[in-house]
Amino acid sequence: MSNLNQETILDVHHWTDSLFTFKATRDPSFRFQNGQFTMIGLEVNGKPLLRAYSMASANYEENLEFFSIKVQDGPLTSRLQHLKVGDKILVGRKPTGTLLTSNLLPGKYLYLLATGTGLAPFMSLIKDPEVYDLYEKVILVHGCRGVAELAYQDIITKELPNNEFFGEGVRDKLIYYPTVTREPFRNRGRLTDLIESGKLFDDIDLPEMSIEHDRLMLCGSPAMLKDMRAIFDKRGFIEGSHAQPAHYVIEKAFVEQ
Ligand SMILES: Cc1cc2nc3c(=O)[nH]c(=O)nc-3n(C[C@H](O)[C@H](O)[C@H](O)COP(=O)(O)OP(=O)(O)OC[C@H]3O[C@@H](n4cnc5c(N)ncnc54)[C@H](O)[C@@H]3O)c2cc1C
Repeated sequence: MSNLNQETILDVHHWTDSLFTFKATRDPSFRFQNGQFTMIGLEVNGKPLLRAYSMASANYEENLEFFSIKVQDGPLTSRLQHLKVGDKILVGRKPTGTLLTSNLLPGKYLYLLATGTGLAPFMSLIKDPEVYDLYEKVILVHGCRGVAELAYQDIITKELPNNEFFGEGVRDKLIYYPTVTREPFRNRGRLTDLIESGKLFDDIDLPEMSIEHDRLMLCGSPAMLKDMRAIFDKRGFIEGSHAQPAHYVIEKAFVEQ
């Protein structure tokens, strides 16, 4: 198990019966870039049972944080949801991922578009002071079915603006736009519809999407990513990578089986 660190659970918070967050110790040798994911899991019957997870904590924080789904019959999360303080988890030593500002060409507005647990890598990125140096505005859009699934709302709107290191960046530049599809709320609708109709841009008082000034990062369900990709491709946006930075980057929040 030399490619895995064993870490200890420090805190567990259940948002709903299908979403929770846990914090764990962090081996000082574990380095990652904000927006990346790694393999994490549990030892089951003497073998590691691992799944990809985005770090929701920033890379300068002492501890690790993860934002997780609970799939009732899921091999890992049917177990992981019972984590308690003091339990051990395995954390892969090789982080990776495409949601990096270095995979994007310079731009004015950075859109972080998430559904469900796709919020996790963006929680890491909105705590990165460099992101606020690079962009005039950082727009975090989080889409869920219900209001209770909009995890981290208080942290985003109350804690982060008061952070002593990057609070000013958050106050001046972060626009948080939570939206739900299945119940009354101040913002309603799917991300794709909000972008196609232009309602998102009206609501946040920014210009319609353009290759010239907008850069985008997407993390959500495979279906959401497919629809979004079609919208961007139609407008001439090009997907960026480490080899060729461009206008948008994509990470799956999970894989359909
Ligand atoms: C690059 C990447 C990053 C990921 N980051 C995270 C993360 O930060 N947090 C997280 O909870 N999961 C994340 N996942 C999904 C994660 O790897 C596992 O699929 C999830 O923990 C469920 O594991 P499981 O063994 O219980 O069920 P699995 O057998 O892995 O999944 C069973 C089914 O549950 C559904 N499902 C799985 N994960 C999710 C999810 N997150 N949201 C909605 N439906 C889901 C899918 O339909 C899937 O086919 C990520 C996946 C990828 C590929």
